[in-house]
Amino acid sequence: MRRRIGTSIVIGLIICLSVVVDCNEISAQSKDELQQEIEELEKEQLELKEQEKEIQNDKSSTEQKIEENLTKQDTVQGQIKSLEQELTNTQNSINAKQGEIDSTNKEIDDLTAKINDLTQQIEQLKNEIEALLERIDEREALLTERLRSIQRSGGPMMYLEVILGSKSFSDFISRTAAVNIMMDQDKNIIDSLARDKQEVENKKVAVEDNKVEIEAKRSDVEDKKVALEAQKQELVALQNQLDDQKAERQRLLAQLEKEHEELEEYMFTLEDEQAMIRKQEQALARAREIAENNLNQLSDSTTVNSSSFIWPAAGYRSSNYGVRVDPITYQQSFHLGVDISAPTGTPVYASTNGVAVRGNLSGTYGNHILVVTKIDGVDYTTLYAHLNGFAVGDGEVVTQGQIIGYVGSTGRSTGPHLHFEVHKGGWKGFYPPNSNNVNPLNYLP
Ligand SMILES: [Zn+2]
Repeated sequence: MRRRIGTSIVIGLIICLSVVVDCNEISAQSKDELQQEIEELEKEQLELKEQEKEIQNDKSSTEQKIEENLTKQDTVQGQIKSLEQELTNTQNSINAKQGEIDSTNKEIDDLTAKINDLTQQIEQLKNEIEALLERIDEREALLTERLRSIQRSGGPMMYLEVILGSKSFSDFISRTAAVNIMMDQDKNIIDSLARDKQEVENKKVAVEDNKVEIEAKRSDVEDKKVALEAQKQELVALQNQLDDQKAERQRLLAQLEKEHEELEEYMFTLEDEQAMIRKQEQALARAREIAENNLNQLSDSTTVNSSSFIWPAAGYRSSNYGVRVDPITYQQSFHLGVDISAPTGTPVYASTNGVAVRGNLSGTYGNHILVVTKIDGVDYTTLYAHLNGFAVGDGEVVTQGQIIGYVGSTGRSTGPHLHFEVHKGGWKGFYPPNSNNVNPLNYLP
C-alpha cells in the first residue's frame, strides 16, 4: 500500500496516455487498420475496468483500515481518560496522606513540647526536694545540737536552768511548759518538713509517670507517621507507574493519528487515481468514437501527417528531464518532464495534433491536459501540467500550435511554469526502464 502513495496519481495519469487516437492520419489508415485500432481500444477499455476494480478494492480496504484505526484511537483515548481519572484519585490520596503526615508531625511537636515541660517540672521538683532535704538536715542538726548540749551538761541543763530560774511556782509551771513547747516545735518543724518532702516526692513520681505515658504516646504517633510515609511512598510509586502508562498510551495515540493521516492521504491518492481512470475512460470512448467515425467516412484523401513536436510554451527552461533535487522535498527524485518557467497566463500550445483530455486539480499536476495522438504508427501522449486555465473542451480535437491552456502554478508547484511530458507507446509503468516516459528534448525541435 505504501508503495503506491505519491506515485499512484502519476501512474493514473500515465495510464491515460495509452489511449490510441490518430487525428493526423485519418485518410491514410486502411479499413483494416481502423478495425484493428477499434479492437485495441476495446481491449484497453476492458483493462481499465480491471484497474478501476482494483482501485475500488484498495479503497474499500483502506476505508476499513481507517475505521479500525479510529476504533483503536477511541479505545486508547478511553484508556488515557481512565488513567487520568486514576491519576487524579492517586493525587488526592497523596494529598490526604500528606495531610495526615502533617497532623502527626504537629502531634509529635505538641507531645515533645509537653515532654520538655514535664522534664522541666521534674527538674524543679527535684530542686524542691533538695531544698527540703537541706532544711530537714539543718533542722535535725539544730535539734541534735540542742540534745547534745543537754547531755554535755549532764542532763537537760538548759531546760533545768530554764526551770530552776523560776521565781515562783506559777513561773516554774510556765517555764516547764515553755521548754516542752520548744522541744515540740523543733519536732513539729521536722515532721512538717518530712511531710512536705514526701508530698513533693509523690508529685515528682506522678509527673514522671505522666512523662513516661506521654513518651509512649509520642512513640506511637511516630510509628504511625512512619507507616503513613510508607503508604505515601507506595502512592507515589503508583503515580509514577500511572504516569508511565499514560505516556505510553499517548505515544500509541500519536502513532495511530499519524497512521490515520497517512491512510487519509492514501485515500485521497486513490480518489485522484480513480478520477484519472474515469477521465481515461472518457478519452477511450472519445477515441473509439473518432475511430468508428473515420471508419464510416473512410476516403482516399491525402495524408496530413505532422510527425514533429513543437515547444508548448515560450519561456525559460528551468528544469530538465531526469534525476534532480526535488524543489519541495529537497531529495533526489526523477523528474518526468521538462519545466518551462513563464508568467501566469502565458499561452500553452498543443505540441502535436490529437485529442485533448482535460484533468482538473490533481494534487500533483493541478489543472492539466493530455494530448493523445499517433505519429508514424506510434502512440504518443503529451502532458501539460499546473495550468492556470483551459482553452479547449474535454475530448476536443486539437491541432499542433493551437492554444489549449495557460501557464499557472496549480497542483504540486512552487511557481508559475509549464510541466511538459512525452510518453511514447502505450503505458508500461511509472519509472524507467519500464515506463514509456521519455525525454521531451529528444522530440522537441
Ligand atoms: Zn516539472
